Amino acid sequence: MMSVQLQMLGGALEVGANCLGLHDGRRAVWLDCGLHPKREGKEALPDFDAWQGPAPSSLLLTHCHHDHLGGVPVALKRQPGMRCLMSEASRLIAPTMLRNAAQLMKRRALAGDGREPLYDFAWLDECWRRMVGLELETRFTLHGQIPRGTRSPTFRLQPAGHILGACGVDFDWDGLRIFCTGDLSVLDQGLVPGCDFPRHCDVLIMESTLGATPEMDAWDRETEAERLAAACRAVLLAGGSVIIPAFALGRTQEMLFLLDDFRRRGAIPPCPIYFGGLGRAINEVYDAARFLAPRLHPGFVLDRMEATVLPPALLEAEDPFEKPSIFVMTSGMVQRDTPSFRLVQRALERPEQAVFFVGYCDWEADGYPVWAARTGNTIRWRGHAGPVEVKCRLDHFRFSGHARRTDLVALTESMQPAHVVLVHGSPAALESLQSTLRERLPAAQVDIAWPRRPMVLGRTGMAS
Ligand SMILES: [Zn+2]
Repeated sequence: MMSVQLQMLGGALEVGANCLGLHDGRRAVWLDCGLHPKREGKEALPDFDAWQGPAPSSLLLTHCHHDHLGGVPVALKRQPGMRCLMSEASRLIAPTMLRNAAQLMKRRALAGDGREPLYDFAWLDECWRRMVGLELETRFTLHGQIPRGTRSPTFRLQPAGHILGACGVDFDWDGLRIFCTGDLSVLDQGLVPGCDFPRHCDVLIMESTLGATPEMDAWDRETEAERLAAACRAVLLAGGSVIIPAFALGRTQEMLFLLDDFRRRGAIPPCPIYFGGLGRAINEVYDAARFLAPRLHPGFVLDRMEATVLPPALLEAEDPFEKPSIFVMTSGMVQRDTPSFRLVQRALERPEQAVFFVGYCDWEADGYPVWAARTGNTIRWRGHAGPVEVKCRLDHFRFSGHARRTDLVALTESMQPAHVVLVHGSPAALESLQSTLRERLPAAQVDIAWPRRPMVLGRTGMAS
């Protein structure tokens, strides 16, 4: 049997431009092709030139977050014979996300950032026919065809939780079962149920985002939701508004679902709820796919809930908080020139207003100084010319779409792989998870994937 090799073109030792390749010398696939969230232009791309395998038959997409999808149009340009295969729900989301990315690059280029956009709308139109949605839990060849008795490697997509359309990939590579988790959540969220993965694999390639976050192990979604409801209620009843910075894909829909539930139960007083324009396009897909992809509460339709896209006039109004409201706004990390940035800027010095963070914020993001602050602190950030005292209420609520550390360990134990390869996490997360897994599965080989360095899968370890 030929050995299968793994090579990380991005997303090793970090949460970056995720892209990994698998090949056996004759046949190859790539998994995901993201853009690095903190870099721009060509530097944000995975390192395609490092690839040492044959031309890949396909690029398999695990889900539509920017750090997994954003570089796909560039990969399709470099590999003219390649198609991009994904779940049917991801196929519905991808155009919205990629058009948004193209628009952003164009806007920045016009503003004179000195970088050529990586792709434009015309190229995206060329890409759509090479992007194909596949049924879940059905075996396909690496080309995305139904296997016809030939003994070629196959794969199937298995629901990964995380966000709508997210999948892990279960390979049968000449008898070697290789499972790549992609981003995953084990627990149910409000709308997206937890992962449904195979019982066993020989090689497990696993994301490690929360690998060094043991405090999440005791986390409970219901308790956290109640805490958020109570905090919103207190602010609204005192005449203030709540700003919830949230990513457009996944977090926004989960937050809207929660807020709708709060309102129905009377846990928060009636008030306008606003969200961003990109969120609306994604809400439509969440609604359209509610019987197509694994979904909880398929009867819940985002488009029917009482919430509206934030009118641009309100964002520019003298006082956007005149009427107590809830704003679920991008960007989640409060990046410059986004609605969440503009609103936080205007709420920061007002004690009756509140900013509630519901996700992670990178230390290099524009909003990080606010994210890391407490009320009463004086901070410097891009939203104000000089030092500013934070007078609004600040709080953090954990609603991660990633598996907790304890879930990752339990998942590995249940699948009993002979070889575990850890990807997609900070060095601290990867190392912490590696040492725990080595203790818990003494017979398994547990490796951390290194950038660009080929690794033979299945017990033998590093290639030369
Ligand atoms: Zn993701």
